[in-house]
Amino acid sequence: MVQDPIIISGAGPVGLTAAEILTQQGIRVMVLEKSTEPSKEWRASTFHAGTMELLESTGLADELLCRGIVADKVQYRDRTTGLYAEFDYGLLKDETKYPFRLQLPQSTYVQMIHERLQQSDLAELRYGTEVTGLVQDEAGITVTVKTDEGLEKLRTPYLLGADGARSTIRKLLGLSFEGYTLEERFLLVGTPAAFDQYLPDISLVNYIADPQEFLFILKVPEAWRLLYPIPPSVTDEEALHDERIQNSLQRALQTTDRFPIIERMIYRVHQRVANRFYQGRAVLLGDAAHINSPMGGLGLNSGIHDAVDLGRRMVRIMWGQTDPEAELATYSQVRRKVAIDYVKSITEKNTSVLTEKDPERRIQLQRDYAEMAQDPIRARSWLLRSGMIASVREQGIGEHPESTTTRSQP
Ligand SMILES: Cc1cc2nc3c(=O)[nH]c(=O)nc-3n(C[C@H](O)[C@H](O)[C@H](O)COP(=O)(O)OP(=O)(O)OC[C@H]3O[C@@H](n4cnc5c(N)ncnc54)[C@H](O)[C@@H]3O)c2cc1C
Repeated sequence: MVQDPIIISGAGPVGLTAAEILTQQGIRVMVLEKSTEPSKEWRASTFHAGTMELLESTGLADELLCRGIVADKVQYRDRTTGLYAEFDYGLLKDETKYPFRLQLPQSTYVQMIHERLQQSDLAELRYGTEVTGLVQDEAGITVTVKTDEGLEKLRTPYLLGADGARSTIRKLLGLSFEGYTLEERFLLVGTPAAFDQYLPDISLVNYIADPQEFLFILKVPEAWRLLYPIPPSVTDEEALHDERIQNSLQRALQTTDRFPIIERMIYRVHQRVANRFYQGRAVLLGDAAHINSPMGGLGLNSGIHDAVDLGRRMVRIMWGQTDPEAELATYSQVRRKVAIDYVKSITEKNTSVLTEKDPERRIQLQRDYAEMAQDPIRARSWLLRSGMIASVREQGIGEHPESTTTRSQP
C-alpha cells in the first residue's frame, strides 16, 4: 500500500524548505496553501551564514548566491552623531565559506523552491487550499481543507504546520503563543533610488538609532529598503500616504528630492514563542512556532533552521530508524531554546540599541556596541551569534535525540 504523503500547511519559505528537504530524501509531501499562488511579498531580505551552510547540501545556497548581493559589513549609527560601530564579516573568513549576509527578497527564495518542487514527482502543491480542521488518531491525522469546490478530507501520517504567525494549526492544537506585541507598528518602504548617493559611506545593512524615529536601511538587488516606526497616534492610512513617506525619506537622506516608491507595507512587531512545538503527530515550524522583531533578520532564517532540523528528523521517522515521540520532543525542546535564548535575545538587544529613549542608557548601549566592534574576539563572537552559526554549533541541527541529551550546554 502506498503511504499517504506528509502534509505541510503553508507554502511560505519555511513550509517550502521542509518540502524540498523531504522530497530530496525520497519522501512524498503535499503542500497546502490558502493563497492561489506563491507569495510575491518581499518581506525578509537577509540570508545569514548559518543558513547558507545549512542549505548548501540542497543546492539552494549556490542558487541564492547567484541571485543575491553580498553585504560584508553591518553598521550601527546614531541619527545625530553618525557611525559608532561597524562589524566586518571578514572576521568570519576562517569560520565559514559565507563570511557575509546575503541580501535578496524572501519572495525570490519562495519562487525558487516553488519551481523546484513543481518538477518533483514526490511533491504535490495545492494552492487555493486552506486547512480548517484536524483530527488525530493512533495512525495519523485527518485534515479538513476548504477549496472553491467545498470541504475535503485528507489523510497524513504527520502534519507540519508552517502556516505563519496566525497559524490555524497552532490554534487547532490549543497551544499558547506567549510573549508581547510592540505598541509601534513598523513601515517598510522600498525605492530603486541610490541611497548611497545621499549617504556615501553607508554599508548594505545599517541600523540607525534615534529616540523619535529610528531607521533600518538595507539593500536588496531591486531596491534600497527603509524600515521605521509608526507612532500609535498615526493611522495606517496616514502612515502609507505618499507625502508622509516622502518626508521620512527626505529626513533620512537629508535631501529635498522625491523618490519613486515600489514597496510600502506596515506590519506589527511581536516577540512570541509557542509553549510547545508539537502535539501528537502535528508539528509547528517557522512563524507558526515563534515570531520576533525584524532587527537582525532572524525570522526567516530561524524558520529555515527549523525546517532543516525537522526535515532530518522526519526522514529518520519515515524510514523507521527512530522513536518518533523522542524525535519530536527533542525538536520542540531544541528549537524552542534557540527561539528564546538566541533569536529573542539577539533581536531584543538590536531593537533596544535602536529605540532606547533614555539618553544615558542610549549612550551606554552604543558604547557597548562600539567596544564590541573594536575587539576582534568579541566582534567575531557576536557575528557568529547574530549570523546564526553559534546556535547550530551549540544546539545542533536535527541531531538524534540520544546525542542531544549528551551534548554539553554553553
Ligand atoms: C512585512 C514583513 C516584513 C518582514 N521583514 C522581515 C525581515 O526583514 N527580516 C526577517 O527576518 N523577517 C522579516 N519578516 C518575517 C518573515 O517574513 C517571516 O519570518 C517568514 O515569512 C516566516 O515564514 P513562514 O513560512 O514561517 O510563514 P509565512 O511566510 O507567513 O508563510 C505562511 C504561509 O501559510 C499560508 N497559510 C496560512 N494559514 C493557512 C491555512 N490555514 N491553510 C493553508 N495555508 C495557510 C499563508 O498564506 C502563507 O503563505 C517580515 C514579515 C513581514 C510580514
